[in-house]
Parts: sequence; C-alpha cells; structure tokens
Amino acid sequence: MTAPVALPAPPARTHPCARCGAPVALDVGLCERCNPLGLKDSASSQVHGTVVLAVGLAIAGLAIAAHLAVAGIGPFTARLTAITPSSTAGSVLATIEVRNDGRTTGSATCRLSDPADASLIRSTVLYSPPIAPGATITIDQEIADTSADRPLTVTCLGP
Ligand SMILES: [Zn+2]
Repeated sequence: MTAPVALPAPPARTHPCARCGAPVALDVGLCERCNPLGLKDSASSQVHGTVVLAVGLAIAGLAIAAHLAVAGIGPFTARLTAITPSSTAGSVLATIEVRNDGRTTGSATCRLSDPADASLIRSTVLYSPPIAPGATITIDQEIADTSADRPLTVTCLGP
C-alpha cells in the first residue's frame, strides 16, 4: 500500500520578512524565526507606517535643503549705467550693473520698467547669471519698443 502522494502545494505568494528578508506570507510582516511566538507582529500597518515616516522625513529633508539653497541669496543692488540706441530701430540697449550683497552665490531676477508705466505692461524681466557674493556684474539688455529718452528703472530681487 502506498501513501497518497501529496500534490506539491502551489507556490504561495510571499514577500520578504521585514527583519531578515526570508519569504513570508503576505498577511504577516515577520517570518517564524524572527517572530517565533506569532505575536501580533509588525505586519502591514506598522511596516507601512515606517515607510510612510521615512518618506515623510525624506520630503522634509528635501524641503529644508531647498530652503537652505535659496536662503542667503541677495539682496541685490541694481543700477542703470547706460541707455544706448540699439542697432534695432525703436529699441535701446540698457546696461545695468547688479551687485550681490548677499552671502551666497545666486541669480537675480531684474525688472526693467518705465516708471510712468504703472501697469508694468512694458516692463522687461531678465534673469542674471549666478553672481558671487559681493561681486558686481554688468548686463546689457535690449528693450524693444521704446526710445533712449524714455525713463527706465531697474529693480533686482533674489529668488
Ligand atoms: Zn525573519
């Protein structure tokens, strides 16, 4: 008489034990070796919670890093040093000097506008290249649809 041959069990779906990585059933978090008493283990919810916490900390870290990256940039001091007729008719070339008064290298966002134009429709915005702390750079910006005798102001801000 032969013993009935047990059919091989279908491969169970598993995931790695949270502690040692051994395959364990999906509904528990730890294998029998790591949790021999079958205590209500760290399964799903708690492991999941740890991951959520880690992700949250990572996001917070990135936010802090991003904040530090822009903190200390600027202020910038800008002044218009020249307005010369451009080679393009109706345009002028505005030469501005931007100084980085901050402690960190950074780019300035500068707005060139006609002080009489309160709506700022005719203003031109430009982004400076990175400026080292204490350094001054000169930017030539062509401004269309104006003339050299129109007043122009420049304001530069950090990010
Ligand atoms: Zn284990």
